[in-house]
Amino acid sequence: MKITIRKTDYLRILEYALSERPDEACGLIAGEDREDGVREIKKVYLLTNTDHTSEHFSIDPREQLAAVKDMRVNALTPLGNWHSHPESPSRPSEEDKRLANDPGASYLILSLQDEEHPVLNAFHIEGDEKDRSVRREELVILE
Ligand SMILES: [Zn+2]
Repeated sequence: MKITIRKTDYLRILEYALSERPDEACGLIAGEDREDGVREIKKVYLLTNTDHTSEHFSIDPREQLAAVKDMRVNALTPLGNWHSHPESPSRPSEEDKRLANDPGASYLILSLQDEEHPVLNAFHIEGDEKDRSVRREELVILE
């Protein structure tokens, strides 16, 4: 499986995540689930982490609802979410795995651990709550 994001959208996520430090930043991704198996992100949503910590996130429910409405209006498919790890690597934490309830979603994690070299990875998280399996998805940043 492959997922693409435009560089401008990647940079928006990066700038927002940097500005929200030391807290985790979060949001949603939407676009097109193409028949050739490529998931194309066409819009990213930068939303409020109501937890306001560097350890985990909860997306503001009202902002989430508004984003989902916007996806509907613009005929975009919800593809998953993204969040930042200000001080840890770009892979799902135990809590991220526990909370990943949508096996069809792409979970993007941006690590700012090395500020000079931010790392963005995409994951699929499947299986039941006690035995999740994590799969890396090929992520391509389009110039
Ligand atoms: Zn996380």
